[in-house]
Amino acid sequence: MTEIPKSHPRYESLMTREKITEGVEKGLTALQGLIAQGRGEAFDYLIGEKTIESAHYSEVAAAALLLLAEKPVISVNGNAAVLAPSELVTLSQLTNAKLEVNLFHRTEERVGKIVEELKKHGADVVLGENAESLLPLDHDRSKAERDGIYSADVIFVPLEDGDRCEALANMKKLVIAVDLNPLSRTSQTAHISIVDNLTRAAANMIELIPDLKSMTEDELWDIIDAYDNSMALIGAIEEIKEHLTQKQDELFGPEEEPQPDPKVAAAMQRRSEVASRVMIRGGDLMME
Ligand code: ATP
Repeated sequence: MTEIPKSHPRYESLMTREKITEGVEKGLTALQGLIAQGRGEAFDYLIGEKTIESAHYSEVAAAALLLLAEKPVISVNGNAAVLAPSELVTLSQLTNAKLEVNLFHRTEERVGKIVEELKKHGADVVLGENAESLLPLDHDRSKAERDGIYSADVIFVPLEDGDRCEALANMKKLVIAVDLNPLSRTSQTAHISIVDNLTRAAANMIELIPDLKSMTEDELWDIIDAYDNSMALIGAIEEIKEHLTQKQDELFGPEEEPQPDPKVAAAMQRRSEVASRVMIRGGDLMME
């Protein structure tokens, strides 16, 4: 791993890159995972690399839903396994959710390595090695374990692909996604879309759970009933716009109202006078 000084202004982001690169070297993360990370970083930059208000709203609902679920499952891919292994194991223990390795670019070797990695971080049982083709998707993406994702009622899918997210939702499962892009098909298809970095989202949910556990089931259902995913996604897009405007103002000063050039304004005035004369003349001709 490259040594990154803590004083570096982009320390967190660079450390995350190091983790993903190391994941590729260890055979836990697919090469394509580097590109997914890049897209995630770009959106993280746009939201200001912090948990935005709308993400917090989704994280509360997501944690409540995991606690209410009868058969919750946390799906883990190669990026998630290196970005937040301890957090995902802790989240599974706090919510009684099963962990299942579920890969887009699947190889049995990589599934085995991720299972071992999660066990190293404290997991007792990790599903994924006995997956069968059970989802209505082509080839390996259809693979899921019968007692895991296939029979789950609620699935937490950090960094999911849009197709599979849609397939799971069509199977009447409630899907919680973590995706920094509020416009992705995953975000648009999930029931609860958390627009936050997985590293922050998982830690936030772990922190929220003790308070949620002190609530009654009815109170938790009230949180879910009041939740509106469109509001969360619109909120995320609004926050990106506000953040960009704020950045623009910081860098270039507040935008001034554009003042029309007096010559252009006079020409426009003449043109509209001509246009209205033509309209009147046209109307007269039609009457004739
Ligand atoms: P979709 O099929 O849903 O439209 P996509 O094809 O745009 O997704 P993928 O390449 O399948 O995207 O997956 C990468 C997604 O994961 C991107 O939307 C990216 O923003 C998101 N992402 C990457 N890293 C993180 C992270 N650390 N935390 C949260 N989201 C992330």
